[in-house]
Amino acid sequence: MNDFTFSIPQKVIVGKGSLEKVGQISINLNGKHAFIISGPNLEKMGVVSKVARILYEVSIEVDFFTDIEANPSVTTVDKATRAFIESGADYIVALGGGSPLDVAKAVAVVAKYGGSITDYEGAHRVPGKVVPMIAIPTTAGTGSEVTAFSVITDHIRDYKLTVFSYELIPDYAILDPELIMTSPASVAAACGIDAFIHAEESYISRDASPFTEAMSEKAMELIGRSIRQFVANRENEAAAEDMLLGSLFAGIAFSWARLGNVHAMSHPVSAYFDVPHGVANGILLPTIAKYNSTSDEGKYLKIYNYISVEPVTKERFKPEMLADAFRKLNAELGIPANLASVGVKEEYIKAMAEDAMKSGNIMANPRKTEYEDIVELYKDAM
Ligand SMILES: [Zn+2]
Repeated sequence: MNDFTFSIPQKVIVGKGSLEKVGQISINLNGKHAFIISGPNLEKMGVVSKVARILYEVSIEVDFFTDIEANPSVTTVDKATRAFIESGADYIVALGGGSPLDVAKAVAVVAKYGGSITDYEGAHRVPGKVVPMIAIPTTAGTGSEVTAFSVITDHIRDYKLTVFSYELIPDYAILDPELIMTSPASVAAACGIDAFIHAEESYISRDASPFTEAMSEKAMELIGRSIRQFVANRENEAAAEDMLLGSLFAGIAFSWARLGNVHAMSHPVSAYFDVPHGVANGILLPTIAKYNSTSDEGKYLKIYNYISVEPVTKERFKPEMLADAFRKLNAELGIPANLASVGVKEEYIKAMAEDAMKSGNIMANPRKTEYEDIVELYKDAM
């Protein structure tokens, strides 16, 4: 067993209708003027104004910024930071999927300490406390509401940079299953498989501990039993609850155990070809599962049984079977089978492999991985 430490340095509020508590929570946080960071669709759907209304009721002033794209850029963070400072707001309400939450965390750093988010790239470079934040996820999910990461795309380098600091963990997370019940099937599939991969990669990570393994296993159980039903029908309340909680537990797990080759390799795919994060991960998953199968020490059987409709016994199981189970799951969820079909070009593989090797997740992957291995893995996933 590795030595380990953990903390969950925030309050997490879970339940149907819990969005209504954002007013009281803002008061607890001593907030007087909220800055809502969200996405354009949520603004159109009236979710942003709903949150604003709840805040007005407790006499909190509200401004918002919703001009956020998928795979959000350094420029977007700069714009949002300027808007935050000009508004005079004293805390942030991050409302949305991974992109608004990543931007909100970056704004919370840059608004406090200045410069550009690129100055804080890497591990533990945020000097101290950031602007207070309440995170409200509307997808299940990135787990970003509880993680210590913000991932931002730097278009100058075609590179997805990661800021990793425990200061980035939002003060409060509100998990209201009603908020994820309006997501389109394709978003539910991409975010759902991403959440599952957070659980899976943290589970087999070299940095896993008994604490993170417990979180990962519960996440795989919840997501495994509900992902198909949720993608088929987002209004299925029990499935929505499972997905949101699964995403939460997976987020806590990977904040402490990190991830692996799937995430190391998916970030360059998204940076070069603007493929949604969950889709890139889903496509890479079977290839990496096959690669890591030679390092399996018994965890693959459990993962297989969490995700499969028909469980198998230890006697009938071989680690290689997991990659096939993932391929089957991708097909059921409508995730493409290979990188070529989402526009990835063979001639970019070397550049992508170089970028993948810069990720801290390579070190956490259960099987030792060199640059040449990554090149082969990308080729295999094409
Ligand atoms: Zn992810």
